[in-house]
Amino acid sequence: MTDVLTAKQRQLNMSRIRSRDTKPEMLIRRGLHAKGLRYRLHDKTLPGRPDLVFPRYRTVVFIHGCFWHFHKCALSKLPETRKDFWRQKLELNEVRDKKTVTELLDTGWRVLAIWECALRGKHRMTDIDVLAHAAKFIRNTQPTTLTISSLNEPYT
Ligand SMILES: [Zn+2]
Repeated sequence: MTDVLTAKQRQLNMSRIRSRDTKPEMLIRRGLHAKGLRYRLHDKTLPGRPDLVFPRYRTVVFIHGCFWHFHKCALSKLPETRKDFWRQKLELNEVRDKKTVTELLDTGWRVLAIWECALRGKHRMTDIDVLAHAAKFIRNTQPTTLTISSLNEPYT
C-alpha cells in the first residue's frame, strides 16, 4: 500500500494525535489540584521536562500519550504506512523515557507515569480511581516509581 498522505497532511494528522494527549493532562491537573496538591508545570530544568512537578513531595508526574511513548497497549497501534519508520522513531522515544526516569531517580525524585489508556479506551479505570492512586503516591515516600495504566494494576 502506498503512502498517499503528503508530508504536510501527515504533520497535520500527527499534530491532532498529539493534541488529544492534552485532555488526560487537564483532567489530572484539575483533579490533583482539587485534592489540595500544588504543582509546577513543565519544569525545563528537570530531565524530561515533567508535566507536573510537586516540589514539596519531590515527586514528578508524566502524563504519557500511549502512541508517542510507545506503550504497546490497545491505544498505541502503529500506523499502517511506514511502520518501520514509526517503530524506530517510537523506540527512540521509549529509550529516552527510560533514561529520563533513571536520571530523576538518581537525583532523588520520585516518578509517577500516568498513561492515557488509564483514562481513555476500553480498559480505562474510573477518573476517581486514577486520581486517588496518583494522590496517594504523591503524598507517600515509597515506592519511588509508579505506573498507572490499562496494562497493570496500580500500587495500592
Ligand atoms: Zn496505553
